Order: sequence, then structure tokens, then C-alpha cells
Amino acid sequence: MRCGVDERRGGRRVDGGCLNGTALHSMIEEKLNHSVEIENDANCFALAEATLGAGKGHELVFGIIMGTGCGGGFVFNNQIRLGPNLISGEWGHSVLYPDGNECYCGKRGCVETYISGGGLETQLKNHGINYSAKEFLNKKNKNELEIKIFDEFLNNFGRSVANIINSIDPDIIVLGGGLSNLTRLYSQGIEEIQRYVFSGSFKTPIVMNKLGDSAGVYGAALL
Ligand SMILES: [Zn+2]
Repeated sequence: MRCGVDERRGGRRVDGGCLNGTALHSMIEEKLNHSVEIENDANCFALAEATLGAGKGHELVFGIIMGTGCGGGFVFNNQIRLGPNLISGEWGHSVLYPDGNECYCGKRGCVETYISGGGLETQLKNHGINYSAKEFLNKKNKNELEIKIFDEFLNNFGRSVANIINSIDPDIIVLGGGLSNLTRLYSQGIEEIQRYVFSGSFKTPIVMNKLGDSAGVYGAALL
């Protein structure tokens, strides 16, 4: 569930969006007259990949979704780790540049505004480029400005992922979402991560998901 509030968590925000402040969980249970589990899509993705997919066999799995937005999930021993603020994995809203791009969350410079599809498209529009994020990333024969934006995108990907590694040093990072199909993330993107990791020997596997678009559904089923 991308946006909503779970009152089992004290009515705390699960993720930004249209349903903040709404007791979604009890509303659904009342309508269905049945108990339901509810969880953020990135957490469902991470749980599925950690249990059944590319992260299987690893103790600490960090799942990243780079789609319209930018989410993350933290799974330890096949359990979603939420943390005392219930925001574990909300990596998309850590600040990369204090005076950077405006984010809907009210802060500036969030990771999401740089390396999500939506964030990239906003940056492209600001430069008068009207491609979708996918069209832009896959475009051959980019001009000088487009190459600059593309390289900055990969650099920001590297900075952002290195921050995760420097903080929690997961055993594996699994990428999902529409932008995770970009093969350069697994070559140039990894080189950029390496530049910002606080270690001489960088070993963290950065891998594509195995469950594709179904990962979130598998994760929800596992709950
Ligand atoms: Zn934000």
C-alpha cells in the first residue's frame, strides 16, 4: 500500500500521499469484515526479494524501488524491520543536497527528487527536455546536455546508495521499479557507489530483482 496510515502503528504515517491521516487499515477490515495485513510497497518488495528472490540466503537485505518515487525496505532474517519511528527504509527522503530540489515531503534535496523516475522527469523538464525517464535513460546518441544529466543521475545514484552502505552495510542490495532495468546502474552506477563508500574494499552485491513487477504482490502474500 503506497499511501496510508496504519492505526496499529499509532496512526503514524506509512508513506506520503493522499491517505495520510486516514485509518485505512480499519476501514478496509470493516468493509471486508475480515482481518487484513497492510504494508508499504517497498517493504513488500524487499520482503519478497529477501525471501524468494535475488536476496534469498542473505541476512540483511536492502530493497530499493526506483519507480515513480524512490522507496526502500530493510529486511533482517526474512523479517521487515520497521524501527521505532516506523520509517526504516525511507531512504528516498534522506537529504542529498540541503538546498536542492523541492520535495513533496516539505524538505529540499531528497534522494527521490534526483533518482526516481518522477524526479528525473522534473529535472528534464527544467532543462526543456520532454522525454519520459525511461525514454531518456534508454535514448541512444544523447547530446552534450543529456550526457551531463545522465552522468549526474548515475553520480547521485552512487552517492545515495553509498549512504545506505555506509549506514547499515547490508549483505546485498536488490533494485526494483521501472528504472532498475537500466543496465548502466550495474556497471557505471556501481563504480559511482564505490567512490562514496567508506571502505577500501567494496564487496556489496548490487543486483537486479528476480521477481519483477510481481515482487510486491509476493511480499504482501508473505505477510
Ligand atoms: Zn522528500
